[in-house]
Amino acid sequence: MKNYKPEQLERWDKQYVWHPFTQMRQWQKERPLIIEKGEGSYLYDVEGNKYLDGISSLWVTVHGHRKREINQAIIEQLDKLAHSTMLGQANITSTLLARKLVEITPEGLNKVFYSESGSTAVEIGLKIAYQYWQQQGEEKDKDKRKFVSLVNAYHGDTIGSVSVGGIDLFHKIFASLLFETISAPSPYCYRCPLNLSKENCSMECVNEMESLLDRHHHEIAGVVIEPVVQGAAGMLVAPDGYLAKVRELCNRYNVLLIADEVAVGFGRTGKMFACAHENVSPDIICLAKGITGGYLPLAATMTTNEIYNAFLGEVYECKTFYHGHTYTGNPVACAAALANLELFEKDKLIETLQGKVTLFTEGLKRFKELQHVGDVRQKGLMAGIEIVENTATKEPFPVKYNIPHRIVLEARKNGLIIRPLDNVMVLMPILSMSLTELTQVLDITYAAIKNVTEEET
Ligand code: PLP
Repeated sequence: MKNYKPEQLERWDKQYVWHPFTQMRQWQKERPLIIEKGEGSYLYDVEGNKYLDGISSLWVTVHGHRKREINQAIIEQLDKLAHSTMLGQANITSTLLARKLVEITPEGLNKVFYSESGSTAVEIGLKIAYQYWQQQGEEKDKDKRKFVSLVNAYHGDTIGSVSVGGIDLFHKIFASLLFETISAPSPYCYRCPLNLSKENCSMECVNEMESLLDRHHHEIAGVVIEPVVQGAAGMLVAPDGYLAKVRELCNRYNVLLIADEVAVGFGRTGKMFACAHENVSPDIICLAKGITGGYLPLAATMTTNEIYNAFLGEVYECKTFYHGHTYTGNPVACAAALANLELFEKDKLIETLQGKVTLFTEGLKRFKELQHVGDVRQKGLMAGIEIVENTATKEPFPVKYNIPHRIVLEARKNGLIIRPLDNVMVLMPILSMSLTELTQVLDITYAAIKNVTEEET
């Protein structure tokens, strides 16, 4: 490809591109960060500046950028086949990947339905759960058409996944387009919706879910949840035992548990899947992001045989799941995913993560001492540092100060890419980062938060 000057690219980008989740007026005024290449834990911009990738390129990169084995697997697959449909046909890598996913995911998840993003994985999970109750046999269960989801939930941006979302800033404006869901409280312990503190909490938020299910179970198809950590809400870590309790309630009230492991799956929380922290097997699991190690768009929605069997029937019974995207099960993306999963085993990634998690946990402790850090939340290699103006009242800084964005720019000046969620600074280091690189991520973030927030006071 021809070499373009950075100024030219900047001009064209500002002229032609609309960026997701981006304040476009602010973007128009600033020098944009245009990434040209990646290598290991680093990204390089078009001017040759080098940055540590502190957010794993939106929570996806696992073994680093330009990983030889994954590049190779993609090239080999491209030499055979770039794409063929999965509607009434199969391809080799999607078959092999499905077999592997069944082997590594929690017990009982035996069927894989592919798509391309986390949003579609959830959308599909919801539709499967809905159709399941219409077809599984019992007349009384046909009323199970609603979902329970959590306040502060984020499950993606399509209309179905927004319907089960609970972040007002993103979702409220679409309210009249959405289907009705039943909201349960979020385990946001720093700002407990039930006004409890860690010392006197007995997970009353789960009791609320219990009473919801008690009243509504006859009309509930499933509970959809981000296991262990509500990511986009600002890394809200649920208390130990929360997920297991939700599983138990779903069993008791005969509703499906849909685990959205899009953000937390593939090692992010220190275990291959977050459900493993509490030995939970959901009825449906939604996977994306880390599935290809940050290479290509791919997602999977997996179900139990029991759910799958409800879709089997004679042609005239019309029990088919009428859903499928053009690029579903793309063989190149599946080849990347297979190479990614092989590397987990070859590099013993989950085992080696434990030392990194310890360093990360220890390194995050000092953030609590900062004058404007209200809360630090972490599980595995994912963390949220909540910035407040006043730690006593937990009052955030006024929006006009634009603190999170200024922290991002300050960190970038010092060679680190991070991205906030509202007032929460998010760290999602690449799982393969070295201990030295992880320490740099922590040090640069610490200094950026300190410099920017203390400038304001
Ligand atoms: N579910 C969760 C828990 C997520 O964190 C995200 C994205 O951050 C999604 C779903 C949506 O995934 P995608 O952006 O690939 O559609």
